[in-house]
Amino acid sequence: MKILVLNCGSSSVKFQLIQMEGEEVLAKGIVEKIGSSEAILTYTPKDKNKIVQTREVLNHDVAIGLVLNTLMHPKHGVLKDKSEIDGIGHRLVHGGEEFVQSELITEKVKEGVRRCIQFAPLHNPHNLKGIEVCEQLLPGVPQVGVFDTAFHHTLPPHAYMYALPMAMYRKHKIRRYGFHGTSHGYVARKAAEYVGKPFESLKIITCHLGNGSSITAIKNGQSVETSMGFTPLEGLVMGTRCGDIDPALVPYIAKLENLNLAQVDSLLNKNSGMLGLTETTNDFREIEMEAAKGSEQHKLALEIFCHRLRKYIGAYMAVLGGLDILVFTAGIGENSSTVRQLTLQGLECFGISLDAEKNARNELEISSGPVKILVVPTNEELAIARDTQNILLSLQQELDKSIPEEIISKELSKFSGDDRAELLAIWLQNPHIKLYELAEILQNKTQKKFSLPVLKKEMELLGLNEVSEEKKKQLAKIFK
Ligand code: ADP
Repeated sequence: MKILVLNCGSSSVKFQLIQMEGEEVLAKGIVEKIGSSEAILTYTPKDKNKIVQTREVLNHDVAIGLVLNTLMHPKHGVLKDKSEIDGIGHRLVHGGEEFVQSELITEKVKEGVRRCIQFAPLHNPHNLKGIEVCEQLLPGVPQVGVFDTAFHHTLPPHAYMYALPMAMYRKHKIRRYGFHGTSHGYVARKAAEYVGKPFESLKIITCHLGNGSSITAIKNGQSVETSMGFTPLEGLVMGTRCGDIDPALVPYIAKLENLNLAQVDSLLNKNSGMLGLTETTNDFREIEMEAAKGSEQHKLALEIFCHRLRKYIGAYMAVLGGLDILVFTAGIGENSSTVRQLTLQGLECFGISLDAEKNARNELEISSGPVKILVVPTNEELAIARDTQNILLSLQQELDKSIPEEIISKELSKFSGDDRAELLAIWLQNPHIKLYELAEILQNKTQKKFSLPVLKKEMELLGLNEVSEEKKKQLAKIFK
């Protein structure tokens, strides 16, 4: 099974094509600066060199078209035809309280993602656009949405509620949602596998330290606390985000600097964090280099970053009532022995001790005390591809279910003339409609639930499975 993983942002589309047998990345890349005549395509097919091209890409339709054409390129491509793609997995940023797990994309799911735009106005519209473009360019290929917030749906109310007037939650659903969930879940499961104990029996803290950073406390396989909140601004110090500050600073800075709210928001999200503190860069490699050369300002920035992280680790140990595994992941977590060492100093009394040599070599296990400290590379794309595969396999299983003929006949007899007319009307509007979507819409219209095998049989009886591609296209134009 080949799964295309897409991460559609406002001006970029990241992609990976994964062969699920052997979990092999066939190709990966990114289209950046979408909306400009100088967009950049970076593409790396398996076992070949990276290709970088500049070209005009004015919108997401063109960007995803470019991704598909590149994957099918006669020389650099890894696919002969786009029909080889079995499924598409999308990274979706915000699922609000509606989505607690990955979902097969249907009209109903798209409506839900649309409702969540209010929480992530900079992300969800582009995620949704990616889904819609794929519907056009890859009709009939099932799509799955994997939500960044879903892993944190298990946070208890005392962890996700802010101490604001209750009406803020009731009216506007203002609460902590958490992000990076796919990564936290992936590395925590990997860590449990490594120590050879059931995920559900462990107390784990995962530190995802990249340009955006967050930390999560996981108990019995469930996220119980996480540092990002209603938006990704809360919590740790990040590349350009400030993380926790006194909220009273928002009006104070606005007044002093004569800024409007959008400008303060931008100051906190884009000009703060390590960039704001160092006044030069948010790249940890440079920050560490400058600190090593003696820059007090860069040294202080590192200390602030690590102090905040240490504070959270201590707090989360209290939340968990102990700790079995501490995991570091993402760009900084996986590569910066300095950050890990600075952060964990003085925590020996809690059973957290680093083996300095193993830490310096970025080894997988770097602890020398009772709490296992692990460096686990994250792989969000693989996690998305796995969820997509699992959902597609269970869909296939349902279709392949061998249902005795007499039960199928009994179910088919439930189809009234009106039901059949509804089915035809739905199909005529979209002859490329997937069976599971048809089932969902039909259920809404008729208030009757038909299983997929029964619906498939009914479609066969009506002869709809024999309609040519050309005719389907004509019909789609007429009835849309
Ligand atoms: P994101 O996916 O959030 O953009 P990444 O997980 O790729 O971020 O992490 C980016 C960060 O990782 C940057 O700050 C970068 O400087 C840091 N990083 C990458 N390699 C190293 C390294 N060898 N040492 C220290 N920091 C590193």
